[in-house]
Amino acid sequence: MSQAIQSMRSQLHLSHSQLFTYLQCSLRFSFKYLLGLPVEHSSIALHFGKAIHAALEVFYQGIKETGKKPSLIKLEYTFINGLFQSMERTDAPVLYKKDMPDTSTAIAMGKKMLQVLHEESYLEGYHIEGVELPLSAPLYNHEGKEMDIQLMGIIDLLLRDNKGNLVAVDHKTAKQPKSQGSVDSDLQLTAYSYLLAANKYVFPRSEVMCRFDVLRKLKTPKLEIYNTTRGPDARKRFAKLSAAVLAGIENKVFLPCSSWMCADCEYSKACKKW
Ligand code: SF4
Repeated sequence: MSQAIQSMRSQLHLSHSQLFTYLQCSLRFSFKYLLGLPVEHSSIALHFGKAIHAALEVFYQGIKETGKKPSLIKLEYTFINGLFQSMERTDAPVLYKKDMPDTSTAIAMGKKMLQVLHEESYLEGYHIEGVELPLSAPLYNHEGKEMDIQLMGIIDLLLRDNKGNLVAVDHKTAKQPKSQGSVDSDLQLTAYSYLLAANKYVFPRSEVMCRFDVLRKLKTPKLEIYNTTRGPDARKRFAKLSAAVLAGIENKVFLPCSSWMCADCEYSKACKKW
């Protein structure tokens, strides 16, 4: 863990993943972050995503430092190592999926996806400004007053195009394609834009260019790029939303929110007992 991330974690903070967890299901948020309940199972998709993420970090960091792509073998090694390390970190049973019925299928899928990334990653005309860039920024209450709590986030990849514009990139692995509507309203990209504006990477009223690079988990995997932008109005709304989440946490508002995510929820027994 870098020094910057350690020092940010020592401040009172809300990470963007905590914020999104609260918005998806506040009861799950309380089980995970407040009560610290042990998970009942872990999902192979979660371990898989973390391991691919680790390989992507090695890939882009390598290009940033040397100007050359690291070898595919190095990426595969990072991925396989990351997958086993992530699975070993928990005693809870791993929940496998139809498309990943065991670890060797997950490894085969991951290797095919990394090959696609290695061949098709779209960096022409871009300079890499940051990889796994940690940023924090103050949050504001409903009266617009700065609070002593920071929003903390880590931007997967920050690029600069040949016109000088910054592009904040988030990596995803997914079976299904994304719709442009979901990309345009995605809160994670809004959080990236909020962090970049608050840290003066862009002017306060600038539109920030954002991008999802999605590695699709298909028999023949593919890399899909989804572009969008976020302006000052989206950031203002995001600040209001964050303040509302903080008020909900402070007032202990934790409610179950049933959705497709319940199928994979690592606290489903605790939820039933609630
Ligand atoms: S099972 Fe569903 S409703 Fe219950 S805590 Fe998990 S995500 Fe929330």
